[in-house]
Amino acid sequence: MTTNAQEFDRARGAMPGGVNSPVRAFGSVAETPRFFVSASGPYVTDVEGREYVDLVGSWGPAILGHAHPAVVTAVQDAAARGLGFGASTPGETELAELIAARVTRPPLVERARNERDETPRAGLETHPVERVRLVSTGTEATMTAIRLARGATGRDLVVKFAGHYHGHSDGLLAEAGSGVATLAMPGSAGVPAAIAAQTLVIPYNDLDAVREVFAARGDEIAAVIVEAAPANMGIVPPAHGFNAALADIAHAHGALLILDEVLTGFRVGPAGWYGIDPVPFAPDLITFGKVVGGGLPLAAIGGPAALMELLAPLGPVYQAGTLSGNPLAVAAGRATLDHLDAAAYERIDTAAATVAEATTAALHEAGVTHVLQRSGNLFSIQFAAEPPIDYDTVKAQEAFRYPPFFRAMLAQGVSLPPSVFEAWFVSASHDDTAVSRIVDALPAAARAAAE
Ligand code: PLP
Repeated sequence: MTTNAQEFDRARGAMPGGVNSPVRAFGSVAETPRFFVSASGPYVTDVEGREYVDLVGSWGPAILGHAHPAVVTAVQDAAARGLGFGASTPGETELAELIAARVTRPPLVERARNERDETPRAGLETHPVERVRLVSTGTEATMTAIRLARGATGRDLVVKFAGHYHGHSDGLLAEAGSGVATLAMPGSAGVPAAIAAQTLVIPYNDLDAVREVFAARGDEIAAVIVEAAPANMGIVPPAHGFNAALADIAHAHGALLILDEVLTGFRVGPAGWYGIDPVPFAPDLITFGKVVGGGLPLAAIGGPAALMELLAPLGPVYQAGTLSGNPLAVAAGRATLDHLDAAAYERIDTAAATVAEATTAALHEAGVTHVLQRSGNLFSIQFAAEPPIDYDTVKAQEAFRYPPFFRAMLAQGVSLPPSVFEAWFVSASHDDTAVSRIVDALPAAARAAAE
């Protein structure tokens, strides 16, 4: 048996930093990364044979728990029929139909709007996803959505918000969240200045900043891209009506709203954040990832036929992929969505609420100044006195309290995201036993954070 430290040494000789995605190196929490060999339900097991209750969930996809039997069977069955054909399959159409059918506004939100007697916004009556294109990663989904927006509008500029993460394509790395935030990088070397100049970065939750950027350059802006409910600088919920106002401002200037639901899609509810935002709004393109691939590489872009059919082969906007719509990934995605019924969301919401409340109680008990921020069943802890509303206020927190908290949880067998800038992912498999193991570990971790 090897140790995690031995595995890390070996990995560093073979791969930059020993990893294939930066946050996995555990740099910001000053700990040896764990090398996992298996996972089941809410648990992951490392090379040393230690089991941890997992709150990373593969960064989102493992929403039913690891190695869910129905998902594994679906993948095995698909694999036995062929690993990929580079050609069309009936399963791709079924997954695309499933995605389109789920992304509707539930009656409750419609009712809320009618009760307030709001004037319906243009486009709200249409189903937001009429066509879907499957790709392999969230990065590809947002990159393609932006190309599509540029192709549709004939404009070049894109507005993004500081602290939001939309993957690692050149134009979207400026002041990005997730690993870029964890490593405290303003952007990335290797991005040509001319490309960076096409992205206008403004503070989140600040409609004045949105109005100003559109007033100054509105006729050059192709799209504004926004995380539906930001979760890559920790959780920072959108201000009430923010997404709706954003859509209205973009549309008034002939620009599109790209709603990035790679992380929130099918996690915070059957129709993602779109389905639970208290103020209805009309995104033009929606990107999905993580949950929609059930743990295998799959992501998607959805939107109205008129926009989506600008994609090749029908239209002039090119996009392609050798592995796009891979049959194993499609099978995993379909099985996952099939099992995400009301009972599954109920289990996720309940377990998430229990863990979140126990965490904040333990930190209070230890006298640690913090806030718990939630967007649906996604939550994170921020070591600040007031709830952060944007990237600047997120960065101003006492982030140094997270590494000792993280290490104390890990030592007690709980695997948290290795960065204060990430959300905690609870799954439908987090039963009472798993939740109790987390809750029991919290007091010691909270005391470590207090020091
Ligand atoms: N968009 C959001 C909101 C994300 O959270 C992520 C990944 O964390 C991405 C896009 C990029 O997805 P991927 O890592 O699959 O490229």
